[in-house]
Order: sequence, then structure tokens, then C-alpha cells
Amino acid sequence: MRIQIAAANWKMNLTLQQGEQLLNEVLSKSKQLKDYEQIIFAVPAPYLQAAVNLVKGKKNVFIAAQNIYQKKSGAYTGEISVEMLQSLGVTHTIIGHSERREYFHETNETLAKKIDIALEHNITPIFCCGEPLGIREAGTQNAFVAKQLVESIFHLSKNEISKIVIAYEPIWAIGTGKTATSEQAQEIQKYLRSQIVKHYDEKTADIVPILYGGSVKAANAKELFGQPDIDGGLVGGASLITDEFVSIIDALK
Ligand code: PEP
Repeated sequence: MRIQIAAANWKMNLTLQQGEQLLNEVLSKSKQLKDYEQIIFAVPAPYLQAAVNLVKGKKNVFIAAQNIYQKKSGAYTGEISVEMLQSLGVTHTIIGHSERREYFHETNETLAKKIDIALEHNITPIFCCGEPLGIREAGTQNAFVAKQLVESIFHLSKNEISKIVIAYEPIWAIGTGKTATSEQAQEIQKYLRSQIVKHYDEKTADIVPILYGGSVKAANAKELFGQPDIDGGLVGGASLITDEFVSIIDALK
């Protein structure tokens, strides 16, 4: 069984106290995780250390940053390096969330550099890809997302790509309440896996978890996660509500 993941993206929400309470409640209410199941909390940068401390010793529970800078260190005021994350005990980072692409103009080329530096420091990238509404309406979503993979991750070696997580997040479904149907999500995620086969091989494609993101909630998680090429979810809004996120964790295959 491929790794199945329920990943929370808190974005720029919650105070430290609210975040600590939410994380503790989710962990105390959630089921015993199977070996192949993981929970990841992508928390705001100022809370990373506190979050790492709260999950210490909890099996298969990890803390992620929401972004990193592509340089090791230096005069980059306000940025966060992978070495800083490592020194805190952070194990994962989101890379290329559509909000970073849209509001902070992150390009596929920049994201390739972020992927490289994360892997060099043993930080697992959760690489986000996905098409805007216009591309979906034109029916060219497969080519659009495949290009994102080619330009940001397909330069990796077989060994390196086996260490990343992909999150397919159609932009028109993020924070909009509009979810891709399970058929739509399965269809494109199967296509993305076929692209990994094309550039690498079947065995590699079978290792890489591909999450779905875009208005995942308790009510639709089971149906989405039940699809063969959906290995869990990257969850924004619903990850801020204890019972919603606990139900999403319960819905993992
Ligand atoms: C996200 O932040 O990656 C996301 C999918 O948000 P939401 O679940 O709120 O659509």
C-alpha cells in the first residue's frame, strides 16, 4: 500500500494558542494510524517549533512548513531556509501552493530550485500542482499540469522523486467550496501517475503519493480517497475544524 496522507494546511490562520489546541484535539480524537498512514500539519512558520514539540514521539505525525526559500542561507530578509527547518525538527514542506504561485509569483523554475534544496536537506516536499478554471474549461488541464511536473520535478533522479509527495489541487476548487468530482480527480491523478511512468517507470510511479486538494471536507473525503490514484488530501479550510479534520483522517484508505 502506498503511503496515505491527511495533510492540514492552516495557511495564515489561528493564533499560537488556537493552533496548539486544535493540534492537540485532533491528535487525541484521531484513530491509531496504520503503518502506511500519516498526518501532516503545515503550520505558520512562527508556530513550527511549538508544533514539532507537540508531535514529538507520535508515530507517523509530522510537521511541515508552508514554504521555503531556495537558497541555503544569506541576505534574504524574511525568508526561511531548509537548514532552519532541519534545526527545528521539521520534516516536510509544501512547495508551490497555488497561493504562492499567484500572489508571490513563484514560477515552475523557482519551484524546481526549492524542490532541489529541500531534498538535499532531507526535507520532504509536498509539491502542489493544478490548473486554473479557464484551463479546465478549455479542457487542456492534463497538458497544463504535466508541464508543471516537467518543469519543476521531472529533472529529479528516480531515487529523488521517490521521496516526494505530489498534491493535485485544481485552483478553481481551492477555498471555493467547489470540489472536483471523484471521477474528475481520479482521471487527472491517474494521468499524472502515467506521466511518472513515462519519465521514470511503473515501480517509481507506484511509490509516489498523489494527494487531492480543493475543498476536501468530512462529507466528501471518503469518496475522494476511495479512488485508486488518490492517496489522501491536502486540506485547507476543513483542517481548521477539529471534527472535520478527524473525519478526514478517518476516511484514509
Ligand atoms: C489548500 O489550502 O491547499 C486547500 C485545498 O484549501 P481548501 O481545502 O480550503 O480548498
